[in-house]
Amino acid sequence: MAKKVLKFGGTSVGTIERILHVAKIIKKEHDSGTQVIAIVSAMSGKTNELLKQSKSISANFNKRELDVLLSSGEQVTSALLAGALIEFGVNSKSWLNWQIPILTEGEHSNSRIININIKEINKFLSEKGVVIIPGFQGISKTGDVTTIGRGGSDATAVAVAKIFDTDTCEIYTDVDGVFSTDPKKIPVAKKIDKISYEEMLELSSLGAKVMQSSAVQTAMMYNIPLEVKSTFTDREGTKIFDQENLDYTKSVTGVAYSKDDAKITLMGVQDKPGVAANIFEPLSKNQINVDMVIQNISSDQKITDITFTIKRDDLIKTIEILKNNKDIKYESMSNNNKVSKISIVGAGMVSTPGITYKMFRSLAEEKINILAISTSEIKLSVIIHEDDTLKAIKKLHTAFDLD
Ligand code: ASP
Ligand code: MG
Repeated sequence: MAKKVLKFGGTSVGTIERILHVAKIIKKEHDSGTQVIAIVSAMSGKTNELLKQSKSISANFNKRELDVLLSSGEQVTSALLAGALIEFGVNSKSWLNWQIPILTEGEHSNSRIININIKEINKFLSEKGVVIIPGFQGISKTGDVTTIGRGGSDATAVAVAKIFDTDTCEIYTDVDGVFSTDPKKIPVAKKIDKISYEEMLELSSLGAKVMQSSAVQTAMMYNIPLEVKSTFTDREGTKIFDQENLDYTKSVTGVAYSKDDAKITLMGVQDKPGVAANIFEPLSKNQINVDMVIQNISSDQKITDITFTIKRDDLIKTIEILKNNKDIKYESMSNNNKVSKISIVGAGMVSTPGITYKMFRSLAEEKINILAISTSEIKLSVIIHEDDTLKAIKKLHTAFDLD
């Protein structure tokens, strides 16, 4: 008998009508003989609303109480969904984090699931019951309610799929699946039928925020097949699994973009050993992640320019650290936060020559200036001016036959 995790995101359970619709999807699975464990998010907007309420009391609202508060959103949808199923004649039951329990470790609002008790739930499944579990939460060793980070219902779904050894983990959402680029911006974007974990990670960390990245990472680690699909259509979704099970007809799977980056250039830096270390060490000690680095060749072997990118949110802090750094000398510093990062992603890139040149040529044809470049096995990213974003995505999407 098949055993599945079905996870429903905030928009899928955003209204009572939608919860009833979700109950029908589950009933259909259940009637066909599948054992179903459903994981639910809070109704869309609910977690933000609760967060806002806590902030109106204190900017430093007690962390333990914040987790009790935020976890309540998923508790509401769990009970409503189980109630709806019962109304449709399906034997169903919701469990709260501490009733199962879902054991977590780590600090409040950022805990990790380390174990889930399976005994009672498995018994209920074997009695033809549909199990509803609230996503995004657990309890600590000391018995306090915890949450596992924003978007954490995906992580709950993957953890449940692993611990209950289910056949698949289906992520129901408000889009048809993972797209070759942002369908809201580029109407010719196409739904991807199959994709590897690695590509999915590159795409989701780059702006295609269909699924929480850390959840995809966990699924990859334990080889749990995922499927992202729409709650509102019957269309096939996107299947995410091992690279070995995919054959690549196209070298590039998708074009992603993000506007989370900023660029800093230090001009007139001494060109001698240890300088780069002196620049970047204090940044890493302050948890600032440097993404791309470019160092020019110095013509006189004495001074050079270094350009690097960081998260836009870290810009002010980074400038401050550089200014206070007594171990480095430079002539001037400039920064730019009106940049965006465009990446082409594809596991087929490794075996296809000429991708790099094709990307650069395409951007040149649109007169788009490249400010920084970085590469990995399955990804090629460039930093460009923010205003060129749409033009760049369109061009690359066409150039790599994704339209
Ligand atoms: N409700 C939580 C959030 O909004 C968790 C989730 O939806 O995955 O972050
Ligand atoms: Mg989500």
